[in-house]
Amino acid sequence: AGRQGALMFIDLDNFKVLNDTIGHHKGDLLLQKVADRLMHCVRKTDTVARLGGDEFVVMLNDLGDDPVVAEVRARIVAEKVLTRLREPFDLDGHRHFATASIGVTALGGGASDDGVSEPLKQADLAMYQAKAMGRNTVCFFDPGMQAAVSANAAVSADLRIGLRDHQFVLYYQPLVDRERRIAGVEALLRWQHPARGLVGPTEFIPVAEDTGLILPLGQWALETACAQLAVWARSPQTAGLSIAVNVSVRQFRHPDFVDMVMAAIQSTGIAPQRLKLELTESLLADRMEITLAKMGTLKALGVTLSLDDFGMGYSSLSLLKRMPLDQLKIDRSFVADVLTDPNDDAISRAIIALAQSLNLEVVAEGVETEAQFEFLAAQGCGFFQGHLFCPPLPLRQLEAFIEETPLLTAPTR
Ligand code: C2E
Ligand code: MG
Ligand code: MG
Repeated sequence: AGRQGALMFIDLDNFKVLNDTIGHHKGDLLLQKVADRLMHCVRKTDTVARLGGDEFVVMLNDLGDDPVVAEVRARIVAEKVLTRLREPFDLDGHRHFATASIGVTALGGGASDDGVSEPLKQADLAMYQAKAMGRNTVCFFDPGMQAAVSANAAVSADLRIGLRDHQFVLYYQPLVDRERRIAGVEALLRWQHPARGLVGPTEFIPVAEDTGLILPLGQWALETACAQLAVWARSPQTAGLSIAVNVSVRQFRHPDFVDMVMAAIQSTGIAPQRLKLELTESLLADRMEITLAKMGTLKALGVTLSLDDFGMGYSSLSLLKRMPLDQLKIDRSFVADVLTDPNDDAISRAIIALAQSLNLEVVAEGVETEAQFEFLAAQGCGFFQGHLFCPPLPLRQLEAFIEETPLLTAPTR
C-alpha cells in the first residue's frame, strides 16, 4: 500500500526443552495458544503466520508514513507480544511459562523492496541477535548485523583455504622461572595470510569456534606441537622442554578429543608429561561432571594440565580443588595493573596463595616490566611469561633464543 510496515520474526525460547520433557502433545497445545495470543496483539489487517516449528512471523501493515514513527509503533507491538507471552499458559492442567525472542525489520513504503526473502532474512538475523542478548527480548535489524555475518562468512571460507594450503604456523613463547631460566614454551597460533600478512589468533579463533573449524585447526596445532617435542627430545639441550597447547572449549568437548590427544602422543613417541594442555575456565560453566571425568582421563595419560586466564571466569574454589590440575596461569589483565590497582594486587596475591595451598604451579602471563616481575616474584609466583623475557617467536628464532639462555632443566642423557 506504499506505507511503512514491519516484519517480526518470533521464536519461542527453549521450546525443545518443553517438547522433550513434557511431551509433544503439550508442545502442540502451547503453539496453538501462542498463535491465539499473537492474533490478539495485532489488528485485523495485520498478518500472523507460523513458518514452522516454534517460529512465527507477524507482518504489521500501515504503520504510517514516517519511518521513525513506524519503528516506535513496531516496538510497542513487539513489547506487547513479549508481555502477553510471559503470562502463564495452561497446557491441559500443566502451568507453563514461556518467553520468546523477537527480531524486527522495517518494511519500507517504496515499491522497490527486495521481495519477500530479504526482509525475512533480516528479521531472522535480528531474532538471533535477540537470542544472543539473553532471550526474552526484542532486537531491531540494522545493516551492521549483515556486515558482521558476511565478514564471518568470508573469514570462515578463508580459514578453510588456509587449512588446506598450510598457512598456519605455531609461534612459541618461553616461560621462565624466578632465575629467568627457560622452563618450557607456549605454542601460539598465527595465520600467515597471503594477503593480510601475519594474523593473530584473536582475529580468527572465535570464527573458527563458531564454524567448527577449530577442530581441524586445534588438531593441527596439537600434532605440530607433539612433532616438535619429538624433535627436541633427540637433543640433550632441549629434551627437558615442555610445550603448552591451548585447547578451546569446543575442542575439549568433542567426544574424540581424548583419543586425538592419545594418538598424537603415541604417533610421535613423546613423553606425555612434556605436553601441557591449557584449558580455560569457561569449560566449567556447565557439564562439570563430564569435564572433570575427561580431565581425569587426560591426567591418567600423563599429560600436564593448566588452567589458562585464571580469574576471568567461572571457577569456584571448591571446583578448583576437584580438578586434576598442575598449573594456574594468572590472566594478564591482572598482571598489567598489579602495581597500580590495589584490587589487582589483592587478586594476584590471593591467586598465588590459593595455588600454593593447592600445590599448583603459578604462572603470571603478560609480564612486561621489571617492577611487575619483582613484585610477583616477591609474592611467591614461580613462573613468568611476557614480553619482558621474550615475545612469541617463530621456531628458528626461538631455537636461537634457547641457545643463548639458560634452561631450567639440566640437559638430559
Ligand atoms: P593465551 O593462551 O592467554 O596466550 C597469551 C597471550 O598473551 C598471547 O596472545 C601472547 O602473545 C600474549 N602475550 C604474551 N606476553 C605478553 C606481554 O608481555 N604483553 C601482552 N600484552 N601480551 C602478551 P596471542 O598469541 O595473540 O593469543 C591470544 C589467545 O589466542 C591465546 O591467549 C589463546 O587463548 C588463543 N590461542 C592461541 N593459540 C591457540 C591455539 O592453538 N588454539 C586455541 N584454541 N587458542 C589459541
Ligand atoms: Mg594460553
Ligand atoms: Mg592466557
